[in-house]
Amino acid sequence: MTRPARVIIDLDALRHNLSRVRNYAPDSKIMAIVKADAYGHGITRVARALADAHGFGVACLEEARQLREAGVDKQILLLEGPYSVEEMDDIQRYRLDMVIHHWFQVSLLDSAAITTPVHVWLKIDSGMHRLGFAPSEVGKVWRCLRKHQGVADNIRFITHLACANERENAMTRQQAEVFYKVTEPYRAEKSLANSAAVIAWQKYCLDWVRPGLMLYGVSPIDGQTGAMFDLKPVMSLESALISVKHLNRGDTVGYGASWRCPEDMPVGVVAAGYGDGYPRHARSGTPILVRGKPCALIGKPSMDMLTVDLRGCPEARTGDPVLLWGGKLPIETTAAHADTIPYELLCGVHKRLEIIEHGQQG
Ligand SMILES: *Cc1c(COP(=O)(O)O)cnc(C)c1O
Repeated sequence: MTRPARVIIDLDALRHNLSRVRNYAPDSKIMAIVKADAYGHGITRVARALADAHGFGVACLEEARQLREAGVDKQILLLEGPYSVEEMDDIQRYRLDMVIHHWFQVSLLDSAAITTPVHVWLKIDSGMHRLGFAPSEVGKVWRCLRKHQGVADNIRFITHLACANERENAMTRQQAEVFYKVTEPYRAEKSLANSAAVIAWQKYCLDWVRPGLMLYGVSPIDGQTGAMFDLKPVMSLESALISVKHLNRGDTVGYGASWRCPEDMPVGVVAAGYGDGYPRHARSGTPILVRGKPCALIGKPSMDMLTVDLRGCPEARTGDPVLLWGGKLPIETTAAHADTIPYELLCGVHKRLEIIEHGQQG
C-alpha cells in the first residue's frame, strides 16, 4: 500500500484482554463476541488469536460461516437467531447455536427439516425491550421448545442489559432480578453479562459471560479508559504527515473555512479521513499524536485527509508518523470528541486500509 494510513492489530493485547476477562469471571465460560467483523478487527484473525475462549457470538450466518471455514470448531452462537427458514440448513450443517427471541423463530423450527437437533438459547426481555420474550411468556416458550423434536435438550437462557455501562444505574439490578426470577425454576445454563457487567457487576457473571468491547482493550464503562482496567488497546489507526506548512494568523483551514489560525503557526495534513473511518464529526481539539507528541485536530476531517495543529510538535516534518487512536491515545477520548462511542469507531474502520498484525498469531 502506498498510502501511509493503516490499521495495526495487536494480537498479544487481544490475548491479554481475554486473560483479564478470565480474572474478572473465573467461574464463567467465555463467549467472545466477534460480530461486525470482530468490531472491525477481522473476525477470523480474532477468533484464531482467542482460541482459549469457549465460544463465539456473531450476528449472522455469514459471520459464523467465516469462522467455520477458518477451522474454528468451538460453539458459535447466532445472537439474533435465524432471520428466515432458509438459514436452518446451514445452522445444522455448521453446528451453530441459535438464539430464539420471538415466536416467528419457533415457527421456523416447525417449518424446517431438522435432522440434527439445534442448540437453542432462549432470549428473555428483562427490560431492555429490544429482543426477547416477555417474562410472562417464558414458561410457554420453554415448554414448546422442550418438546420440540428439532431442539436439543440443553436449552439455555440469555438476556441483555441496557445500562450496565453506567455504574450507578439501578436498571441493571432490576433486569438481573427479573432474569433470576423467571429462570429460577429451570435447570439450565444462563448468560447475562456483557463487558460492562463483567467489570462493574461481577456477581452477574453466570454460566457464560459475553464480552465484546473489553476484549478489544476498550473501556465499557462510561468516562473511563481501558488502561484503568488493565486492558490493552488492540487496534491503532496510524498514518503520516503528507504536508507541513506555516500559516499566518487569520488563515482558515479546510472545507467550510471553519477553523482560523489564532496566530502564525505550523499546520500539518494527515493522510486519513472519514473515508478511512475517522469520524467526520470529530471536533477541533480532538487529540492526535504526531511523533508521539500531543497535537490536535483542526477544521473538518475530509474524505482522505485531515489537518492538525502542529504547535505541540513544531519540529514535525512531512513523513512523520501520526497516531489517530490506539496505543497511548485512547479511542475513548477520540469518540468523546466526536459525540460517538468507541464501538462505532472500531466498526467503522474502512476495508481500504492496510492491516498489519503485531504479536504472535493464533
Ligand atoms: C454485542 C453484544 C454483546 C457484547 O457487548 P459488549 O458491550 O461489546 O461487551 C453481548 N451480548 C449481546 C447479545 C450482544 O449483542
